Amino acid sequence: MYKIGVDLGGTHIGVGLVKDNKILSTYYTDTPKDRDFVKTVKAMADAINTLLEKNSVKLSQCDGIGIGSPGVAEEKTGNIVYSANFGWHDAPLRSELQRYIDLPVAMANDADAAGWAEYLLGAGRGSQSCITITLGTGIGGGMVINGKLFSGGMSGGGELGHVTLVADGRECGCGKKGCAEAYASATAMVKMASEQLAQHPESILNKVEQLNAKAVVDASRQGDELASKVFADYVNYLAHLIASIINLIAPQVIALGGGVAGAGEYLLEPLNKRVDRLILNKKLPRARIVCATMGSDAGILGAALLEL
Ligand SMILES: [Zn+2]
Repeated sequence: MYKIGVDLGGTHIGVGLVKDNKILSTYYTDTPKDRDFVKTVKAMADAINTLLEKNSVKLSQCDGIGIGSPGVAEEKTGNIVYSANFGWHDAPLRSELQRYIDLPVAMANDADAAGWAEYLLGAGRGSQSCITITLGTGIGGGMVINGKLFSGGMSGGGELGHVTLVADGRECGCGKKGCAEAYASATAMVKMASEQLAQHPESILNKVEQLNAKAVVDASRQGDELASKVFADYVNYLAHLIASIINLIAPQVIALGGGVAGAGEYLLEPLNKRVDRLILNKKLPRARIVCATMGSDAGILGAALLEL
């Protein structure tokens, strides 16, 4: 039997056909520009049907559909309780999709779905508790604790990106101040660099075509003073977030994904050192901090493998 995974994104809807924990085929379509709920679910259903036709797979050969969606997905009701990005409130995603496709539908937040794949098949494989932190435009968190996806006792928990790192600190996209996302996302790294560019006319970052996190990391590797300072500050903020997670949950694995994790050992080495100094129980074994290994299709695969 096949499983179908859906990764609902702001610009694209990705669908994948999964068998034996592997993605056999994917298909991508544009998310409707206005992100209208009915139109978006229709686009999702069309994408699934296209994927099945492309692979000559019938609905009767599929166990069900798993959806990773932005916002707060409530498994019990099948609703997206709230999505700031999509402007959805109490959107009945499961029942709307089932109007087009008669299959069981499991749901999770998109970062949770990616974290689930990482736990099952990626960097967290073999652990019982694995926290996946995606360091991209924002910060996504997928928490698996004792073998179960954890998003809180009530819906909407597990928002690692919006844990306060600095009280009344930098403004976050969510409207709050001082969130981890405002300090430890790729966007935050770029912002910290661009704010200091004028005081550092000698920095090679003044000449790069596109100032992004990779450019900052590359310049830091080359010894650029500004970039090195920004990167060191970034590592410190991220280390504080990770040390707090370790103090709170003590998972076995912390997997870092997203653009910044592309820095690999250059990030992990100073980060591990800093985390060692910040954690409470220095004498105890602590979480392995590693790069996520599942890549960009983790969301589709994790969604497909959600429990129906
Ligand atoms: Zn925030």
